[in-house]
Amino acid sequence: MLEPAFRADVVVVGAGVAGLTAAHRLTRAGVPTVVLEAASCAGGRMATEKIDGFRLDRVGRFLSASPQEPRLAPGLDALVLRPFAPGVLVHGEGRTQRVGGTVRAGGARGALTAARALVSAPLGSDQARLTAALARLAATPVERLLSRPETTAREAFAARGVASRTADGLLRPLLAALLGDPDLTTSSRCADLALRSFAAGRLCVPEGGADALPELLAAALPAGTVRTGVRATSVSTTSVTTADHGVLRCRAVLVATGARDAAELLPGLRVPPFHPVTVVHHTADEAPLAEPSLLLDADRRSPVAHTAVVSEVDPSRAPAGRALVSTTVLGPPPADVEAVVRARLAVLYGRPTYRWETLAVRHTPEAVPAMPPPHDARRPVRLLDGLYVCGDHRDTGTVQGALRSGHRAAAAVLADLGVGAAFASDPLPHAA
Ligand SMILES: Cc1cc2nc3c(=O)[nH]c(=O)nc-3n(C[C@H](O)[C@H](O)[C@H](O)COP(=O)(O)OP(=O)(O)OC[C@H]3O[C@@H](n4cnc5c(N)ncnc54)[C@H](O)[C@@H]3O)c2cc1C
Repeated sequence: MLEPAFRADVVVVGAGVAGLTAAHRLTRAGVPTVVLEAASCAGGRMATEKIDGFRLDRVGRFLSASPQEPRLAPGLDALVLRPFAPGVLVHGEGRTQRVGGTVRAGGARGALTAARALVSAPLGSDQARLTAALARLAATPVERLLSRPETTAREAFAARGVASRTADGLLRPLLAALLGDPDLTTSSRCADLALRSFAAGRLCVPEGGADALPELLAAALPAGTVRTGVRATSVSTTSVTTADHGVLRCRAVLVATGARDAAELLPGLRVPPFHPVTVVHHTADEAPLAEPSLLLDADRRSPVAHTAVVSEVDPSRAPAGRALVSTTVLGPPPADVEAVVRARLAVLYGRPTYRWETLAVRHTPEAVPAMPPPHDARRPVRLLDGLYVCGDHRDTGTVQGALRSGHRAAAAVLADLGVGAAFASDPLPHAA
């Protein structure tokens, strides 16, 4: 509950990673800040359900982080990332093959090694050209990638001479996993950034669950900064009206909700199309794959985009003696999603799945903002003096994009409030 005399200089609406990151930066600069969250806990889409000793993430894709990259944001020093095995497994044309697997840690050399490893499988006659293209991509500065002509990822691959067999057999399932886009309609620049990040780093999950990330951000804030169960119903440059807790006066308001909620509070704000995501969690007596690999399904007719034995990546996700298999379906799910996924998993893992127990099926229609070309990854976060907006819809539709947008918005607030330039500079890298 908010006390009647409650006062903050800045009110942040929404305690997802964008709002929490912004609050972190504002409070570190000495600006009294409160974060209002409509839900009963912080974290937004980075939620983890705890069921019978299992930890089930709502997000089905994974963070890509370079071992050399500084922590994703200040406040996340204690975040433990559990890496997948280097590269990925790709199932296509009736067989599964490892793509990659010799990634070395960090730096340009690591990136080049990863890029070569990425195409080390026998994928066809254009392998050499693709190898060279990915190696160049991994070593290309981000700013240069962002200045390239922009089209869809599919058109860009065709224009760069990537054979459709390779695009369909490797790049499409890989980018689908990285971007949530099974049709490669994403901006070629965003796709390049995602591939670059993949080639230079490792796929990871936060130890203990995706919610570890927002929990750490929230824990680093002064006590009482985050107020849960408080829904904002309207905003102005100097106040926030809530559903059940009256009106809060302030000097600046930062709307840090998802795109659709933001457009309700800020009429006229653009709402992008979204990629829907369904995640199916199963448990089995034993791990169907005894390694922490991400398995991509290259068959366009399959309901499965990718699957992994998450308990092999992060044993804390399942009770002792049980395996947790989490599978992602992209696009609108089929009516009998659990049954068709279970049947397909039997093919992918090469063993019966009828004894597996279903733990949860979670569908999020507006999971990931789509990024068709032209995509502006630095959408303005300052709307008016006193009114700001952040979230993954103002940057790339990723956790990293949400974090960056929170930093940009906090910097804009600090600049308008006249707080020193030392606090207003942006410390974050600009990779996807
Ligand atoms: C199924 C799924 C899979 C995903 N996979 C990945 C992935 O692998 N990699 C990746 O990088 N990204 C992934 N994402 C996207 C990623 O989770 C988001 O980009 C990121 O979490 C967005 O953070 P945010 O702070 O911008 O928004 P949100 O997390 O949506 O936070 C907004 C917060 O605002 C609150 N709110 C809304 N309206 C109000 C109101 N009126 N008053 C008060 N509070 C309000 C909400 O309750 C919410 O807590 C996935 C998302 C989903 C759902």
